Amino acid sequence: MSFVVTIDGPAGAGKSTTARAVAARLGLLYVDTGALYRAFALKARHAGIPIDDDAALERCGRALDLVLSGSAEAPRVWLEGVDVSEEIRTPAVSELSSRLAARPVVRRRLVEIQRALRARGPLIAEGRDLGTVVFPDAEVKIYLDADLATRALRRHRELARRGMIVPLDEVRGEIASRDERDRSRVDSPLAAAQDAVRLDTSGKTVDEQVAAVLEIVRAHPAFPDPAGRAGRDGLDD
Ligand code: C5P
Repeated sequence: MSFVVTIDGPAGAGKSTTARAVAARLGLLYVDTGALYRAFALKARHAGIPIDDDAALERCGRALDLVLSGSAEAPRVWLEGVDVSEEIRTPAVSELSSRLAARPVVRRRLVEIQRALRARGPLIAEGRDLGTVVFPDAEVKIYLDADLATRALRRHRELARRGMIVPLDEVRGEIASRDERDRSRVDSPLAAAQDAVRLDTSGKTVDEQVAAVLEIVRAHPAFPDPAGRAGRDGLDD
């Protein structure tokens, strides 16, 4: 079984930024599991499937033609041959993905897809239930968190970078209600695994966050170091 690093935590905690930088530095496959939930939501939305229609959601999942491609620096998400990397980032898709993520029929299918990715080699995956449910035997588990104000500001800036101008208050309200739903659902709620290392990223720079995770991963005795030993002595850090 390949070496796995999991990063879980609420929206805006810095999971993607950190996981992508660590993946690029260590030569790990980067897996954005939120993108899978978002793409599923987009497909269900296009098909007009009601949120509680489990039979239709099951069919939707079976027929899901979903590909994660690109590099950790520039990951792309393809749904039925169309690049949906930007379309899945809208607030409407965020909201729907979190509603659908509470449906066991959706989670079952996406967990299957996530576990199959392990065959591709050492990976770092980020999401909500990776250390608890998807990869409970992961070698390294991290739980990232930050206060709500920090997380809202980060998400606000990320949306602006993508050309979506959403008032900060609205972003704060959206992630607060999404986190609440993610934490309180019955199936695979957002939670830190008991054996996860918890890091609070409020007030931390991206470089500090990344350095902290790199140190934890490199220190693991089973770390395969697919990028070579470079960096272990800290010279290129
Ligand atoms: O991480 P991101 O914000 O893109 O995830 C979108 C939504 O997908 C989350 O709010 C959550 O409801 C759901 N999700 C999940 N489990 C994961 C990843 C994402 O439930 N492993």
